[in-house]
Amino acid sequence: ESYISRLSLTEPHLHSFLHISDTLLRDAQLIDRKIEKGEDVGPLAGVLVGVKDNICTADMPSTGGSRILENYKAPFDATAVRRVKEKDGILIGKTNLDEFGMGSTTEASSFQVTANPWDLSRVPGGSSGGSAAAVSARQCMVSLGSDTGGSVRQPASFCGVVGLKPTYGRVSRFGLMAYASSLDVIGCFGTSVADTGILLHVISGHDRFDATSSNREFPDFLSQFTSINLVESKPLKGLKVGLIRETLEDGVDNGVKSAISGAASHLEELGCTVTEVSLPSFSLGLPAYYILASSESSSNLSRYDGVRYGNQVFAEELNALYNDSRAKGFGPEVQMRILMGTYALSAGYYDAYYKRAQQVRTLIRKSFKDALDDNDILISPVAPSAAYKIGEKKNDPLAMYAGDIMTVNVNLAGLPALVLPCGFVEGGPVGLPVGLQMIGAAFDEAKLLKVGHIFE
Ligand code: GLN
Repeated sequence: ESYISRLSLTEPHLHSFLHISDTLLRDAQLIDRKIEKGEDVGPLAGVLVGVKDNICTADMPSTGGSRILENYKAPFDATAVRRVKEKDGILIGKTNLDEFGMGSTTEASSFQVTANPWDLSRVPGGSSGGSAAAVSARQCMVSLGSDTGGSVRQPASFCGVVGLKPTYGRVSRFGLMAYASSLDVIGCFGTSVADTGILLHVISGHDRFDATSSNREFPDFLSQFTSINLVESKPLKGLKVGLIRETLEDGVDNGVKSAISGAASHLEELGCTVTEVSLPSFSLGLPAYYILASSESSSNLSRYDGVRYGNQVFAEELNALYNDSRAKGFGPEVQMRILMGTYALSAGYYDAYYKRAQQVRTLIRKSFKDALDDNDILISPVAPSAAYKIGEKKNDPLAMYAGDIMTVNVNLAGLPALVLPCGFVEGGPVGLPVGLQMIGAAFDEAKLLKVGHIFE
């Protein structure tokens, strides 16, 4: 009940949700009853979970932030959602996003723009801006997002919450609307590393409905938190941390740089050794990402033709029906990505763009591997600046894409990364949060959670 009244106070200002569950109280009462009867309940008992609207839910609409799926209701729950429910989490609603995850601000949502709770005139980041804003404003306790090129980490940084992008394959993508299948992962938001880790623990693991989900054993993230001795003066003694040099060069705000160097000193106080590392192919990540993500999306989004999927616009003839349904259903950013991707994949340009980008991807993977052979974790900022004003970059797609430089490389390499608040810069009524990104070796989320928990 307290969350329902909080929602009615905050939601008119924030617009984090595209849909709020109408069975919220009933769902909560069911959990209450289970507890009263002494039945076993899962670790999410009574926990209110927001779900990004590109993740399918059987009981609420799933639009992906797109007109083409307006009013669409999936016939099933995504695996991550089913696992949340099985562990007694309560779905509070579906959160706003840039259409199909394409964007960095939620301004590319077909329905509404979400505001940043720290300053309502600023963007919450994106594309999972609704999920981040909802947790930041305590509209829900944790939430699910998706991260193809930074969509969990950048909004976590802009909204001052914890965000976790798991290793590619750690969490099933079944029921996540495909944007760029070789990069997409479902990730988690929370107000603490422990909460975020609990949500990850619940949704992780192999799923026979997603052939790319890994059957690798995953450790019990929960036990990590009880075994850590926080009283010890140097709990991270011996941990080698590499600070990625290329993420602190020109174009990064001074406030962000000083928050990151403050975080590095804090890690040293905790016993880590921090040294600078270089990832030589780092700057190639951005162009490679936008070629690959657009290419994959042009293929994935071909399913929305008004016949197999998506709302149909009536036309006299089949090609006109496809054309009109897609022209009306997709917003401008999505249309641009489809055009770019189709161009990059076309016969005459395939070698020059797509193939080249795949080669760059191999280089990036290798440079991360080399850096992680010498270091336990790598650290960097999440974005070159804190949250900017709504509208500021809306008509300058290149400036917006450039803001993804620090996150996209991690997706190209498939690695896990944890973002947590590490400082503030001036701006807005009370200052604006800045996040620290910690990148780990594949499938080693446990280490990131441990370091993050001690750090915070
Ligand atoms: N901003 C990036 C893009 O638009 C990343 C989005 C994401 O991770 N879904 O592609």
